[in-house]
Amino acid sequence: MSKTSDSATSQPEDCIFCKIVAGDFGSDFVYEDQWVVAFDDISPQAPVHTLIVPREHVANLEDDPSPELLARTFGAVSTVARLKGIDKSGYRIVQNNGAGAGQTVYHLHVHLMGGTNFDEGLR
Ligand code: 5GP
Ligand code: ZN
Repeated sequence: MSKTSDSATSQPEDCIFCKIVAGDFGSDFVYEDQWVVAFDDISPQAPVHTLIVPREHVANLEDDPSPELLARTFGAVSTVARLKGIDKSGYRIVQNNGAGAGQTVYHLHVHLMGGTNFDEGLR
């Protein structure tokens, strides 16, 4: 049972990330496996800004993602960081849950950012 309100839950038919995962837009994937795909953010907030997205549609952490989906999604982070060349220099991950956190796409995703110094702390 989903814990996310209906208004916050995009169905796969109108989910932009489901369409990208399905290859509808011919997006270049930085990485893909059975569980996840990774592609560069359309509006990068850092020199490297890549999104890691499970193939299965789940809105966010409040939508009861399976432990395996979470493990595969977060587990892909270091692989993608290496592929993007930021594993040694360091990187930040951000994962938004709900409007109050600034989530705009209601298909779970991890932002992987790097290629700059995040020397101003958390923000
Ligand atoms: P959120 O705010 O939901 O955590 O992050 C959604 C992210 O998806 C934003 O950083 C936004 O730039 C990115 N985004 C939205 N639509 C598209 C798209 O069609 N293609 C790509 N590559 N990124 C997108
Ligand atoms: Zn989706």
